[in-house]
Amino acid sequence: MTGVLSHKFTHYIPRYFPKMLIFVWNHVAVNIFENQYHDLMMNIIVFGPPGSGKGTQSVKIAGKYHLAHISTGDIFRSEIRNKTKMGNKVQSYISKGELVPDELLLDILKNAMEKHSGTRGYVFDGFPRTIHQAVSLDKLMQEKNQEITLVLALEVSGEEVVKRLLKRAQLEGRSDDNEEVIRNRLKVYHEQTEPLLTYYDEQDKLATVPGEGTIEGIFKNLCRAIEGDSAG
Ligand code: AMP
Repeated sequence: MTGVLSHKFTHYIPRYFPKMLIFVWNHVAVNIFENQYHDLMMNIIVFGPPGSGKGTQSVKIAGKYHLAHISTGDIFRSEIRNKTKMGNKVQSYISKGELVPDELLLDILKNAMEKHSGTRGYVFDGFPRTIHQAVSLDKLMQEKNQEITLVLALEVSGEEVVKRLLKRAQLEGRSDDNEEVIRNRLKVYHEQTEPLLTYYDEQDKLATVPGEGTIEGIFKNLCRAIEGDSAG
């Protein structure tokens, strides 16, 4: 009997050994790698008042660290240009310098994230802008087994911001860049968006970086904050 069993055993092991190896690889090793990969993921929020240079710096950060750039403002402008239903809904808020209602943002964000689902992380530019959006983003990240790694807040004085936005109004002709709308956007920023600084500071995720100076100088300081953070 023993002879028959041991015969069967030695017969089956070589036959199934490669399959066993593949099974172990799929269920153990790949899991370990995925966890390490997630640890390496970087999800950054670039934060600051309108005109602080968030857009410019977000594009540079995304390029350098191979992250997907998500700008809710750019998405809305493109929807308006293409005269979509969404564009129609958001146009009046944007042209007055008001925030688009929170309930319109989550689907937009989910779609944008899905478009880049293989990315090693995201740079969020102009999102979140309310505590409600920040909480929704945290939940969404949790569902994906990820989290916001770092919030980079660009510090720019009120006068400088108005000066920059007025200049941009002349250059780009954005409909929300006239003085009255600019003042409203700043008011909305202080009232609804600025409280997020405390929200992220309490989670120990906030790094403030001076947002005045040359584009390259500011970018260098942002990179220092990112690399200092990922170095632990
Ligand atoms: P931005 O290009 O980021 O300055 O956004 C331009 C405008 O789009 C804002 O003034 C808002 O009207 C709207 N917008 C962009 N992102 C958001 C957001 N996360 N929540 C609400 N409104 C937004």
